[in-house]
Amino acid sequence: MQTQEHLFIGGDWVAPSTTDTIDVISPHSEQPIARVPAAAPADVDRAVAAAREAFDHGPWPRLDPKERVAIVRKLAERYEPRREEIAQLVTSEMGAPITFSRSAQARLPGFMISALTDVAAEYPWHETRSGALGADVGVHREPVGVVAAIIPWNMPMFLTVAKLVPALLAGCTIVLKPSPETPLDAAVMAELLAELGLPPGVVSILPGGRDVGRYLVSHPGVDKVSFTGSTAAGREVAAACGSALRKVSLELGGKSAAVVLDDADPEAVATGMTVAGLMNSGQACVAQTRILLPRKRYGEFVDALASVVEGLAVGDPFDPATRIGPMVTFRQQQRVSSYIDQGKAEGARLLVGGPGLPDGLDRGWYIRPTLFVDADNSMRIAQEEIFGPVLSVVPYSDDDEAVHLANASEYGLSGSVWTPDIDRGLNVAHRIRSGTLGINQPYSMDPAAPFGGVKSSGIGREFGREGMEGFLDVKSISIAPAATPDSGAARRSSTSSPAGESGGGS
Ligand code: NAD
Repeated sequence: MQTQEHLFIGGDWVAPSTTDTIDVISPHSEQPIARVPAAAPADVDRAVAAAREAFDHGPWPRLDPKERVAIVRKLAERYEPRREEIAQLVTSEMGAPITFSRSAQARLPGFMISALTDVAAEYPWHETRSGALGADVGVHREPVGVVAAIIPWNMPMFLTVAKLVPALLAGCTIVLKPSPETPLDAAVMAELLAELGLPPGVVSILPGGRDVGRYLVSHPGVDKVSFTGSTAAGREVAAACGSALRKVSLELGGKSAAVVLDDADPEAVATGMTVAGLMNSGQACVAQTRILLPRKRYGEFVDALASVVEGLAVGDPFDPATRIGPMVTFRQQQRVSSYIDQGKAEGARLLVGGPGLPDGLDRGWYIRPTLFVDADNSMRIAQEEIFGPVLSVVPYSDDDEAVHLANASEYGLSGSVWTPDIDRGLNVAHRIRSGTLGINQPYSMDPAAPFGGVKSSGIGREFGREGMEGFLDVKSISIAPAATPDSGAARRSSTSSPAGESGGGS
């Protein structure tokens, strides 16, 4: 069993403040595979103090953004040789099928580091605007401060990169809390960061549970909380930040709809749903587990879906043939299982899968890939985020009803429209209230474009310029007309970088 003795605080591996540990359990074998220290409040205090010092007095926020870009590019280079190791670690700690771990859990973050760095390289950090009152105004984007970044277990390296990289590029200092289920890939990120030669205090990584998360988001030394997790926890985080008037962005849950129009190809839709609805064994915030099918060709689409879901290989996540791995924890298996019971009790027709372990498996936190049809959109299986391999099909009569049903949800994170008629698809997509949508594909999270939710799916955006802006404050500096253009340090060109005591240097 792998053991880790130290916590990564402010760039150093240090002894934890307590002897508390986290056992990482394989969801496939149900056996412990690693033990790591559990961060305690005293470790959070230490990490936030280091981040505060690095932000208030250290060089990182004051570097020219180009210098930060150059350092973060080194992270992209160093990440690549560790990719396979990261894929293996993520599969062992949370059970993602290895093919998904290689492609999405491990490869995408490497790609994202480069793409997000490109965004920063082209970002307009400073601009001068012709003021409406006659004088020019300098508009400067400055790092927001000490960032508390909290992530869930389902896409651990992907979500680490989504927060850490733009925060670093912006000039922030960061305390990242990974989930207790997935601390192992985070330790690899700590090793990579230690090789970059960042100034002391810039990054700490503290695995721990929700109590240490609560302590971190309420810490007076934190300027901004960037949270990804469930909507229930997001509400609590938002409340804590609200009372402290602390900036917060929230990437929360979803119950996204795949809207299948009546001219779509049933085979293409059914194959697409194995990704759109069932990627990461259904443990994806963007999972489109509500499938809206036209009554006109209902039978054709249902048959195609049933045959694809029935054929999905379930089992050992390290087997490259596996498409559906175990749920992350026993608790998650029980939760998904209870939704299957709920769907039956609510009167949806269970067509594929159902309760119990998949054939041939007598251990591991597995769920049979399950397809409910004839569901009503108001049923709990169509309204609540199940976070497992359970699809609910809801029939509709025309495009207007499809749009109405897609919007009849408290969430608005993702979604898709399936049709060969792109204009028709775009028309439907524009009428759906959601932060992201794909046409004939699940929305492919593009690091160049903003990602995030509306309604109970969150506040704020990650990726693209908009994601970078989540880690920036904007400062306007005007100069009295009598002053000469060069006399004010605030009047900057877009290529120069201010320096200052309070983190204004980027
Ligand atoms: P969770 O909310 O239980 O936990 C997420 C993280 O927050 C963990 O690190 C946890 O320790 C911490 N946490 C929990 N309660 C907290 C609190 N009150 N204060 C501070 N920290 C707290 O979620 P989970 O079960 O780990 O993850 C699954 C959820 O994450 C799903 O709802 C999924 O949709 C969502 N998610 C959203 C996105 C997105 O980008 N919108 C991406 C991935 C996952």
